[in-house]
Amino acid sequence: MYRSHTNGALRIEDVNKEVTLAGWVQKTRELGAMTFVDLRDRYGITQLVFGEEHLKIAKELGREDVIQVTGKVIERESKNKNIPTGEIEITVASITVLNKSKTPPFTIEDETDGGEELRMQYRYLDLRRNPLQNALKLRHKLSIEVRKYLDSIDFFEIETPYLIKSTPEGARDFVVPSRMNEGQFYALPQSPQTFKQLLMVSGYDRYYQIVRCFRDEDLRADRQPEFTQIDCEMAFVDQEDILNTFEGMVDYLFKKVKGMEIEAFPRMDYATAIEKYGSDKPDIRFGMTFNYINEETQNKGFNVFDQAESVIAIVAEDCSTYTRKELDKLVDFVKRPQVGAKGLIYVKCNEDGTFKSSVDKFYNQDDLKTWADKCNAKAGDLILVLSGDKAATQNQMNVLRLHLGDELGLRNPNVYAPLWVYDFPLLEWDEETGRYHAMHHPFTSPKKEDLALLDTDPGKVRANAYDLVLNGTEIGGGSIRIHDRAVQSRMFDLLGFSKEEAQAQFGFLMNAFEYGAPPHGGIALGFDRLCALFGGQETIRDFIAFPKNNNGRDVMIDSPSPIANEQLDELNIKLS
Ligand code: ASP
Repeated sequence: MYRSHTNGALRIEDVNKEVTLAGWVQKTRELGAMTFVDLRDRYGITQLVFGEEHLKIAKELGREDVIQVTGKVIERESKNKNIPTGEIEITVASITVLNKSKTPPFTIEDETDGGEELRMQYRYLDLRRNPLQNALKLRHKLSIEVRKYLDSIDFFEIETPYLIKSTPEGARDFVVPSRMNEGQFYALPQSPQTFKQLLMVSGYDRYYQIVRCFRDEDLRADRQPEFTQIDCEMAFVDQEDILNTFEGMVDYLFKKVKGMEIEAFPRMDYATAIEKYGSDKPDIRFGMTFNYINEETQNKGFNVFDQAESVIAIVAEDCSTYTRKELDKLVDFVKRPQVGAKGLIYVKCNEDGTFKSSVDKFYNQDDLKTWADKCNAKAGDLILVLSGDKAATQNQMNVLRLHLGDELGLRNPNVYAPLWVYDFPLLEWDEETGRYHAMHHPFTSPKKEDLALLDTDPGKVRANAYDLVLNGTEIGGGSIRIHDRAVQSRMFDLLGFSKEEAQAQFGFLMNAFEYGAPPHGGIALGFDRLCALFGGQETIRDFIAFPKNNNGRDVMIDSPSPIANEQLDELNIKLS
């Protein structure tokens, strides 16, 4: 027996027990002839006391050595209220060093001294730290609760293959050469999309999988080339059924994992989201919605506004006291190339009822009052205005709004505000290729009432597609699918596939649609992101045991890396 208890188990009630513990040496302290050692494992820390008889061996103990001790539980003289085992300690009778450790390259503590790259290289040591252990514990708990919830409403967990053929979800595929089929390649799934639809054709009715997906995208901060989705599909459902089912899941997860009730779960159509927030994933933890003040600002000689397609204002409550310096900072912020605004106009609604703006030359007090009225700004507020091309201005204002939300502390990570956004456009025009792309994916069905537009104005067609948004982050998306061969083939047409290409790539799906495909739809939730949000963190990396770095590399195992010539030969791959 290596241990009778873990290092998180012993309490004052255990005093006088003879116990055996094992774990890692977190810290040693000498105090006269005695040595105190913090012994750590996944469950906690227990203090060990070595007397004079062990002086030599105790002195030699180094950080992260793996030891086993036997001894008696006694009450501590100076108690540590911060840890559950803080009332007791162990007087050690015997010790065995199970394995010595080299001095770790960084401290294994909540706040470590190791840099990002070093910790990635020694990920197995970083994973010993509490913040990472807590993150993976939360991930485990979430996955268990997801399974419980979906199981309770008759979902089957079904695995789908990883070696498949490309499924377009808008990214590049990772490909795997086939040794036995010379010159041919598998693709790793960007998602199990077509398989889950086929499972509906097969009558499984409710499917889910917590599944790895692979997308070879240009890396942005906090994107992983492989990531995990909670992937779901249901038959004989409409959009309402899906929204209700997964709203139920989110409520359940908050209750079970965080002990929290979600108070409201609003829904907003895409057009409204863009109009009011300039974003298809609005953070609704705070207001500051857009006001369009074109009418109020025209024909006063201010060319910038006169010529703008849109003049958009937001109100920062109680910010009329902003100093020149603070305002200049905001101006600089919106002028950065990442935001791209040409300038920023402000109006201070002074406490005494007067206004002070950066365009006083053009607008008098009465004019400015009409702006304030339109925006519902009150005395003490600050109005900020951007103008220009509508879509661009909405975009810029979205960035400014979120920035102010951060600055003013309106984006509290302990507040959770989920939201459904629905009625996304079906297609999106791509300037580069000069054709339409599916905004969600090519299997998404157009809204019935917009079908006629497919021929006349495809860009206007709305889809039965929805996103689940939490605190301004998209955590899931899905759609009601096309289940009719003719519509699906029309869709491939629109997306610029020739009949032959569509048949070669998706013939299997369209053929399946001819054998009794039920109406169906589904959703996938980004599991890593969900974990991070539940953990109140920005980055998903800590919630993945062995993530890749920002260049898509695993610096611990050093991958990707070249392969041996024999392997290349077997695969018939010639590197030029
Ligand atoms: N396969 C989609 C995605 O990965 C989700 C879905 O439509 O169910 O975003």
